Amino acid sequence: MSHDKARKIRLIMGLRRGGITDARVLGALERVPRELFVDPAFLDQAWEDRALPIAQGQTISQPFVVAYMTQALELTDRTKVLEIGTGSGYQAAVLSKVARRVYTVERHRELMTTAEARFAEMKLHNLHTRVGDGWKGWPEQAPFQAIIVTAAASKVPDALLEQLGEGGRLVIPVGRSSDVQKLIRYRRTAEGIVEEPLLDVRFVPLVPGEVRSIAG
Ligand code: SAH
Repeated sequence: MSHDKARKIRLIMGLRRGGITDARVLGALERVPRELFVDPAFLDQAWEDRALPIAQGQTISQPFVVAYMTQALELTDRTKVLEIGTGSGYQAAVLSKVARRVYTVERHRELMTTAEARFAEMKLHNLHTRVGDGWKGWPEQAPFQAIIVTAAASKVPDALLEQLGEGGRLVIPVGRSSDVQKLIRYRRTAEGIVEEPLLDVRFVPLVPGEVRSIAG
């Protein structure tokens, strides 16, 4: 057995022990080649359960957090999901294996170009990308049954709650501190928005609104 394969099996077993029970989520993490999404300098750590640096001072999330957030979204193969913070594209690739369609927004064009090349290499055709400000969501494609934000917001963006369909779930790290934030799941019910705190997490910040127009 190759070194990589042994590491991958160890990682998946760790996710199970940590409470990832959704077989479709575990299957997606097993099938998405994380080595394709990490910086070449960290290739030997691709299958370690840790966040790693990528370009532009950003990070590719820790596999456990990717699995946990994906599971918390309660996806089926009919779900249309919005991701804010494409970064390396790893979380988006995992979502694309579990959901029907993925819309992902990133403010750095350079990161998006790299991510898009990876999606093409993996032949993922249910992914749609946009370079722009994630605070605004993707109104033209709303409503979404699931929205995931992979950067820490000082407060939950109103536009994202507005773009959440009936019964929809929004999973987002919220907090002003750069050290630790609370991962929160918001659910749109007939009675209104219900808020459920999940884990303590640590993400790079969701950069506030556009200073200049990227759309031009
Ligand atoms: N999901 C990514 C992790 C990304 S790190 C992965 O799997 O690799 C968070 C990302 O959010 C960064 O790439 C950062 O550029 C992006 N980001 C931060 N603020 C943003 C905003 N307002 N709109 C869109 N993207 C934003």
